[in-house]
Amino acid sequence: MHSKIIQKAIENNLFTLYYQPRINLHTNKIESAEALIRIEDKNGLIMPSEFIKSAEESGDIIEIDRWVFNRLVEDSRYISMMSSEDLTISFNVSSTHFTQPLFIEDLENIFNFTIDFSSKFEIELTEYALIHNIKDAISKMDRLKKHGFKISIDDFGIGYSSLLSLKDFPIDTIKIDKAFIDDIQNNAKTVKIIESIIYLCKKLDLKVVAEGVETVEQVTWLYENECDEIQGYYYSEPLPIDKFVKFVKAVNRLDSKNSYIVWNQKYSINNYAFDTHHMIIAGILNKLYEELKNQEMLQKTEVDAYFSLLDRYVDIHFEAEEKFMRDMDYPGTDSHIKAHQEFKKLLDKFSKNLSLSSKKNSYKLFMMLKEWFLKHELIMDKKFMLYYNAR
Ligand code: C2E
Ligand code: CA
Ligand code: CA
Repeated sequence: MHSKIIQKAIENNLFTLYYQPRINLHTNKIESAEALIRIEDKNGLIMPSEFIKSAEESGDIIEIDRWVFNRLVEDSRYISMMSSEDLTISFNVSSTHFTQPLFIEDLENIFNFTIDFSSKFEIELTEYALIHNIKDAISKMDRLKKHGFKISIDDFGIGYSSLLSLKDFPIDTIKIDKAFIDDIQNNAKTVKIIESIIYLCKKLDLKVVAEGVETVEQVTWLYENECDEIQGYYYSEPLPIDKFVKFVKAVNRLDSKNSYIVWNQKYSINNYAFDTHHMIIAGILNKLYEELKNQEMLQKTEVDAYFSLLDRYVDIHFEAEEKFMRDMDYPGTDSHIKAHQEFKKLLDKFSKNLSLSSKKNSYKLFMMLKEWFLKHELIMDKKFMLYYNAR
């Protein structure tokens, strides 16, 4: 039954790639993203957990990987053209494919190398792909490195050769498995292990990425312990390519001279996890303003796209903030939530107005959104942080 899904997807070209941003904790920018495959069925998305394993068993995975490589070549050009950013795109290769003799040729045929081009890609391999035949793995990896690919170890820590892979393989990045990140808040031993992994990677000049990061506490801990990059729902789920490009444009340009909302220290509440959420919202507001300004008649599409990004992101942020406040029994939680609801009402008005296509009204409502946002930052969020820091 599973291979039917795959067969149908291959025949009808139903595969697609989503992109999940990785936030660099030193620069607060998106410098890389992981490509993740989905099947777009008329009934919705089919996730890889439902078809990758059986594709590995049947061998269909090789064809799927080839499809992925081809799409990556196209997508990466599109992303760099549309976002004007030089992002590193990472992608997954199945161990079933990697261990085949044909793997390297497949890759070379499709990527059609120039060093310049391929250096923007990072191949994610699991320890499992490497241990079958260490010599073969190293020689393949060396060849990939010659072409300019970066190499990362995916799901680091849950395989059984972690130290070996650090010692023998020519890798650039390790991605700490979500299982470790999940334990940050409640397992002192895991915390020590992650500290040691980060320490070890610093010594070895490897980049460390944390996977599956979902909470304020995890972001705060990873920031304070000098992890390099974060990937997870706290910042963004994997996004369809057009949304992803818009997200990158909103996040990475906030400090440019012609930003409308200039982010500065005044707005910081001295908490990395919340500050970065606020910066992202400010970034999306900026883009929304730009689109409103640029358009004579409201061409709904671009404005709408940034609006829906804003709407979604505000949900992500409010949910994280409200959960955090409740968990710490912050006495101002209820009034803070009320304030959030007001903002949601404004957003709602804004969206209804957009569909009426009245530019003047949209402008006015946008100004109200902006005022609310900055005031909320300066007053309510700061008050909350004062309480938090005084505990
Ligand atoms: P992975 O490489 O470990 O990818 C990370 C998975 O974690 C992704 O699931 C991603 O959506 C999910 N994730 C990211 N952040 C969070 C978070 O904060 N919380 C939670 N709960 N999950 C988070 P996805 O997209 O369903 O992919 C599952 C697996 O399928 C991947 O695990 C990878 O092993 C495989 N896969 C995905 N795309 C490809 C592909 O193009 N080729 C091959 N060969 N395998 C792929
Ligand atoms: Ca991966
Ligand atoms: Ca992983």
